[in-house]
Amino acid sequence: MSDRFPNSSPGASGLQFREEVLFGRGSPGRRGASLPEAGVPEADPASELPPELLRSEIEGMPELSEPEVVRHFVRLSQWNYGIDSGPYPLGSCTMKYNPKSSEAAARLPGFASAHPMLPEEDCQGALQLGFDLERALCEITGFSAATLQPAAGAQGELCGLLMIRAYHAARGNPRKKVLVPDSAHGTNPATATLAGYQAVEIASGPDGVVEPAAVAKALDGDVAALMMTNPNTLGIFERNVREIAALLHEKGALLYNDGANLNALAGVARPGDMGVDLMHLNLHKTFATPHGGGGPGSGPVAVAEPLAPFLPVPTIRKTLGDGGEARYVLDHDRPQSIGRLRTFWGNFGMWVRAYALIREWGPEGIRRTAQLAVLNANYLRKLLEGSYHLPYAAASLHEVVFSDKRQKARGVSALDVAKRLIDHGFHPPTIYFPLVVPGALMLEPTETESPESVEALAAALTAIAAEAEENPDALHAAPTRTVVRRVDEVRAARQPVLRWRPGR
Ligand SMILES: *Cc1c(COP(=O)(O)O)cnc(C)c1O
Repeated sequence: MSDRFPNSSPGASGLQFREEVLFGRGSPGRRGASLPEAGVPEADPASELPPELLRSEIEGMPELSEPEVVRHFVRLSQWNYGIDSGPYPLGSCTMKYNPKSSEAAARLPGFASAHPMLPEEDCQGALQLGFDLERALCEITGFSAATLQPAAGAQGELCGLLMIRAYHAARGNPRKKVLVPDSAHGTNPATATLAGYQAVEIASGPDGVVEPAAVAKALDGDVAALMMTNPNTLGIFERNVREIAALLHEKGALLYNDGANLNALAGVARPGDMGVDLMHLNLHKTFATPHGGGGPGSGPVAVAEPLAPFLPVPTIRKTLGDGGEARYVLDHDRPQSIGRLRTFWGNFGMWVRAYALIREWGPEGIRRTAQLAVLNANYLRKLLEGSYHLPYAAASLHEVVFSDKRQKARGVSALDVAKRLIDHGFHPPTIYFPLVVPGALMLEPTETESPESVEALAAALTAIAAEAEENPDALHAAPTRTVVRRVDEVRAARQPVLRWRPGR
């Protein structure tokens, strides 16, 4: 099989360690650290602590040495694949390399050890960073005010829709419906529903973008807003955005922009200049923060002036101290605010990473990264056009969506392609999303990949397309070079085994 794997593929079946659970290993009395005898009498926790504080459900806790524990977790980590191991072309998610300079900034002791309940006078630097980051994001997006509170993109959406509700309610009628195009991100209809609105789907046109006529048809006095993902989940720019904004505004409705894909536009075009009323950004996609695996995110929301009174509390305000110096305060006194969205300030460490990156790049660097994100996606598109079906011909921005249509004729699915890509040493792309493309393969190389790395990814996918022609059945067994082979995904989702039990 090795001839199928281009030399440029990072995948190889080299040292791969078997690793079992720690239970059943070790030996009674084995310790990870050598501590001196305690100078006080030993007490039995069972007689000193109330029963609810005693852990009873885990029997036979293993007793292990330090190297046993370290090796266990290092080996498990080597089964994993992260952006620090190689390209991670998971479309829509923007899994890109995060520079270590942002990590270093987030670990500065003054930031890393700041307690969220510090008095304002003792955290002026942290408040200034938040204030300046808000200003930078407003400048990048073209809006006048922002909140950094939401902990993720989806929570940013919720924040935005609660503000839309408050805005309409303040005008006497919160309205009932939110329009969501079928090319929007899946979180959008969920958010609309969570905010108490009826999500009304609008079909996108044949070239993959929302058509003003479709919006006009669905628009009435009950529509509170339209949620537009731009660029949409096909990686295509919604070129009718201005016209759609005008239609909505005529009926008193608002245009919400899902800006999680801002890495396609940042420094080049601003949603605030396109008639959008408010948007969220994903700091963990567009700027720096390692994500995936459930790490924290940050989904700031930027708004036009009329929505500013509804921002969550507290906001960060800049005032002047007695000596004329800048002072930053948390403003809780905002009567029209939707209230608090999250405990404390939000995910502060993500603010530091994003701020560090924005200051490092500067305006030119931000524009350049967007240009490179688009260039890389289009280079990949060009390299793969001959091997995979491209359902939409419209120009791609930061990501490109292929489908498994050609491979399907040989009985090979998007899932088979994705699983074989693992054997080549790459993380799979997003598959079966967006829903408007049956058998979708959604690839986003991001701006952090070199041309050679994009070429290596394309070479692997081209080799898989050739394998689908010559030996399609072999693909059903992929991946074959990993420690864990193809899992039963339905069973894994329906009957997850999350807790070790003796005898399993
Ligand atoms: C990732 C993404 C979201 C959701 O963001 P989370 O931080 O995962 O909650 C919303 N919309 C789009 C377009 C996205 O790509």
